[in-house]
Amino acid sequence: MSLPLIQNYIDGEWVESTSTTFGDVWNPATAEKIARVAYGTTEDVERAVKAAQDAYWDWRTTPPLSRARYLFRLKEAFEENFEDIAAVLTTEQGKCIDEARGEVRRMIENVEHATGVTTLMCGYTLEDIATDIDCYGHPQPLGVFAGIAPYNFPAMVPWWFLPYALVTGNTYILKPSEQVPMTQTRVFEIIDEIGFPEGVVNMVHGSRDVVNGLLDNPDIAGVSFVGSTPTAKYIYRRCGETGKRVQALGGAKNIVAVMPDANIDAAMPSLITSFFGCSGQRCLSGAVLVPVGDVADELIEKFTAAAKIMKIGSGLDESTGMGPVVSAAHRERVLGYIEKGLEEGADLVMDGRNFAVAEYPNGFFVGPTLFDNVKPDMTICREEIFGPVVSVVRARDLDEVVDLINTRGFGNAACIYTNNGATAREFKYRVLPSMVGINIGIAAPMSFFPFGGAGNSMFGDIKAHGQEIFKFFTDTKVVIQRWL
Ligand code: NAD
Repeated sequence: MSLPLIQNYIDGEWVESTSTTFGDVWNPATAEKIARVAYGTTEDVERAVKAAQDAYWDWRTTPPLSRARYLFRLKEAFEENFEDIAAVLTTEQGKCIDEARGEVRRMIENVEHATGVTTLMCGYTLEDIATDIDCYGHPQPLGVFAGIAPYNFPAMVPWWFLPYALVTGNTYILKPSEQVPMTQTRVFEIIDEIGFPEGVVNMVHGSRDVVNGLLDNPDIAGVSFVGSTPTAKYIYRRCGETGKRVQALGGAKNIVAVMPDANIDAAMPSLITSFFGCSGQRCLSGAVLVPVGDVADELIEKFTAAAKIMKIGSGLDESTGMGPVVSAAHRERVLGYIEKGLEEGADLVMDGRNFAVAEYPNGFFVGPTLFDNVKPDMTICREEIFGPVVSVVRARDLDEVVDLINTRGFGNAACIYTNNGATAREFKYRVLPSMVGINIGIAAPMSFFPFGGAGNSMFGDIKAHGQEIFKFFTDTKVVIQRWL
């Protein structure tokens, strides 16, 4: 049976790419190919940019509330197709169906937040800045924006940006990850049904050529990127060279500290989710677990016991606690880090290598893995592994925890479990990462707060969603006037 070929969506139509290079889309649980995707070309990008440019002026002059009404309809349609989008997501990405549902919920929350455009995009005005002279500033859209997405959140991440770009009057081109192109294809089928004006929202599939086509195109006003740190740096630099607005969110190495006064039993479910949710493939996942003082032995014992009873299998099975990682190549990468940890002398307490799931013998599974006695300079404590691998660094006090966090280079998230308010406050105050969890293992801001890190986790000034995103997609024109 031939596999479905994923299409681009340009100018309100499903079109085939001009490319002759194709990639496979996999079901990571079964290791079966489920679709093919073309690695699009510069020509595909140029076609999408032209469509988005042609649509821009009419869309820009559509009143903000009318633009928001498309989003209201989209929200309803997403709710109606909620389970379907989540199932497509799990099938191609591997995460558990409940995690996929959570992700689709966050996607919809961004649509909901963006509908507040009439308040959030309002400008400002001041009379009499000098005698008889008034001044007002109004944000206006900039043209065509592009979004480039990673594989780990195929539904949510593109919608950290897309609805805000549209509702502020810009037109848009999305490039999903070539590893998981099916989720947004399902989402764009719904966009197609809603009937946005042609060219307002477009999608071009592919990998580097599409990204470079977008970066090189002088008619793209700005780029929102989410992915690994090396790619984020590349995007940031290239956008600087070509004068585009840019927000580039990168990788992470998040530390989760547990103080001696923490309620370990109450914390355990969220600790397990922090490290093993989405098989560790979250930019907010816990990567380094830091027991402070004499809590270490009890914590590790309870943590490994809880990890061992987690059911591992296909994300489509409602009882699964952890699914596979996204691809065979990524599994090899994660296994390589486990070997590195052994080589560098960490103690492997829970070994996820050679992990087999009877019903899915070919799936891309890595079992829950935990290294104890990891040292701060070991590779597994410095580099992002992006898999279900926990590095335990034992610390004496909060100073050591803060030092460990602030010397990782990344600055996405940091979490602490404690029952002491003063300790929590000191932690929050001193750590560099921009997203902090207090007795929370995944410190994920909702759509009305900004999402993004510091250091090597984010390049650019304006983060994803929140109120500031309205500024990323607009330029404030200031008018100073008097009547003579
Ligand atoms: P990636 O950097 O490999 O790919 C991201 C996107 O960039 C994809 O669309 C890909 O096609 C494109 N791309 C990859 N290499 C490129 C190159 N050399 N030139 C041009 N384009 C290129 O990232 P990934 O593996 O898809 O996603 C996982 C990474 O994303 C992790 O590092 C994770 O921490 C990060 N992430 C960060 C956040 C955040 O909020 N900071 C959120 C989700 C994921």
